[in-house]
Amino acid sequence: MNTWSQVADIQPLASKIITNSMEKGRISHAYLLQGERGTGKEAIALLVAKSLFCTAMQGIEPCNECNNCKRISSGNHPDIHWIEPEGLSITKEQVNHLQKEFSYSGMESNKKVYVIKDADTMTVNAANSLLKFLEEPSKQTTAMMLTENSGSIIPTIRSRCQVIDLKPLNPVHFQKQLLSEGMKEPDAILMSALTNSLDDAFERIGDEWFAEARTRMLQLVEMLAAKSENVYLYLHSHWLTHFKDRKQLDQGLDLLLLAIRDVLYYHIGNEANMTIFKSGNAFLEKSAMAFSQERLSDILNLILQAKRKIKQNVQPTLVMEQLVLQIQR
Ligand SMILES: [Zn+2]
Repeated sequence: MNTWSQVADIQPLASKIITNSMEKGRISHAYLLQGERGTGKEAIALLVAKSLFCTAMQGIEPCNECNNCKRISSGNHPDIHWIEPEGLSITKEQVNHLQKEFSYSGMESNKKVYVIKDADTMTVNAANSLLKFLEEPSKQTTAMMLTENSGSIIPTIRSRCQVIDLKPLNPVHFQKQLLSEGMKEPDAILMSALTNSLDDAFERIGDEWFAEARTRMLQLVEMLAAKSENVYLYLHSHWLTHFKDRKQLDQGLDLLLLAIRDVLYYHIGNEANMTIFKSGNAFLEKSAMAFSQERLSDILNLILQAKRKIKQNVQPTLVMEQLVLQIQR
């Protein structure tokens, strides 16, 4: 999304709020953009930055061709600073460093923009440092805070920002987009359930790791359905060796979630919405025999709990062993 009119296609309200304030010359000094992955948070932050620095604006649209626009696209503009978590959180040191940078005047003008990705991961100390910064806004500074998890932004920060809600993307719309870009239908159906980003979808579908992840997830479901005693052994020899970091573990659980949801859909006659299996799949029928509808709903909740624990940094071996234990109970 390189223009406000493209943003307006998927986020009409956000686009309108921001472009209106630009037209009136009253751009807010701090925005909090909240929305799921793929809803356009970074694209909007980039567009705000371009709109502030572009030297050849066409109405409300930045030109995308001038030196400033190009440097912003490639992440090389000296007056635009990006902060993202180092490891699991954004630290006070990162915020202090930013403040120091901002105490100098702009490299090329007096305008400066900072973008804080995953703003919900700021530590309490980092948030307090940032707060001081937000309390003394300079006219020329624009903050863009991005988050998927708006509940974790402390109220004192939230109240100093203009909060913009991004609406979730429509999966069917995204599926069509994937198909029109040449993805095969079964892949497009699966990917639209896993991500909202075109790049991410194509990257994963061509990735050997992802193909293997899918195979291993199916093996796990098969063992769970058969109440196999070897499932713990499998966790250690095949699951934890493939899903190594938190992101991969989360992706593994996402796949498991979709497969179990399919089994539930099969039970309730909602096969049109299945994402992993096709109707008539023998493996699907076998799994459906193994679990009741009620049990499947429980299992979906257990998987969601496991995802939360992974996010909260609980030991992965523990999370997976508990999950399997609870599913087989
Ligand atoms: Zn430009």
